[in-house]
Amino acid sequence: MADLLGQLEALAAAARTACAAAGDEKALEELRVRFLGKKGELSAVLRGMGALSAEERPRVGEVANRVRDEVEALLGARKAALGEAALEAELAGQPIDVTLAGRRPLPRGHRHPLTRAAEEIAGIFARLGYEVASGPEIELDWYNFEALNIPADHPARDMQDTFYVDPSTLREGRAKGGVLLRTHTSPVQIRAMQRIGEPPIRIICPGRVYRSDYDQTHSPMFHQVEGLCVDTKITFADLKGTLAAFARAYFGPGTKTRFRPSYFPFVEPGAEVDVSCSICGGSGRKDGRRCGTCKETGWLEVLGAGMVHPKVLRNGGIDPTRHTGFAFGMGVERLAMLKYGIDDLRLFFDNDLRFLEQF
Ligand SMILES: [Zn+2]
Repeated sequence: MADLLGQLEALAAAARTACAAAGDEKALEELRVRFLGKKGELSAVLRGMGALSAEERPRVGEVANRVRDEVEALLGARKAALGEAALEAELAGQPIDVTLAGRRPLPRGHRHPLTRAAEEIAGIFARLGYEVASGPEIELDWYNFEALNIPADHPARDMQDTFYVDPSTLREGRAKGGVLLRTHTSPVQIRAMQRIGEPPIRIICPGRVYRSDYDQTHSPMFHQVEGLCVDTKITFADLKGTLAAFARAYFGPGTKTRFRPSYFPFVEPGAEVDVSCSICGGSGRKDGRRCGTCKETGWLEVLGAGMVHPKVLRNGGIDPTRHTGFAFGMGVERLAMLKYGIDDLRLFFDNDLRFLEQF
């Protein structure tokens, strides 16, 4: 028995020395096989237990278990120490440059065609000296209708045309009159005049608006860009010049503009503005066939505009005897459809990548 116990002690001592000297994981694995493997040294010692008496066997077994545990612990500790040393060596060595470009660039997304169109429109007006303004999408009836000279019996206020909000659900229950999802970006005109106060005022407001419509050319949520210019001696000529400059910048240098008298409650006089068709160049025909985009007329209706109504100026805190201004509004979807030749507005909101990746 003493012989076996001596062999076990010798095995443990050999394992301690060998583990301390092991330089990598491969060497450690070789040691595990050498000491603890099926054909290893511990197994060889234990085979000698058959010659022991029944009293001696448990004592030797106990020592053998202790030696096995010790060797396993030695191997584990050395492995952890080697790992730590390797990490420290890596950290102390060549630093990782996180600013380097990846070896394989990831595919990048791009902006939605509507975002691109809205940014392009706002960019053109920014170059003309306009600042971008914004306002709430949940709007008071007063800003959306009343202040814009849209009387209480105007059809746009019909519950069928507009999404109303239950005022009791609002945190600030101070709303007088109706609360609704804004039907146009025009309430931002009033808010901008109130905020800026003294003219000159030149703002452009891109944003979401809501109406209860849904078909090929209407969506319950869509985008408008509103523009407002108020100063001394602003005339209709300024409006025409500004919109002509915009049309050339957005649709191309040869684009012509046409103003047709129209009625909007918040302007006087008001106009619908057409631009020469960008698809057929205004001829109404393309490749010997009728141009479907302008329906052979050569013109595209793109926006509404006019001189700001004196009542609207007053509601914004501007004295209409001292200042005049013009305003205009356009649909971003329509402008994007005309520019990119898209025939169904709903495609913008389907989130089909096969469509969106074309732009
Ligand atoms: Zn055309």
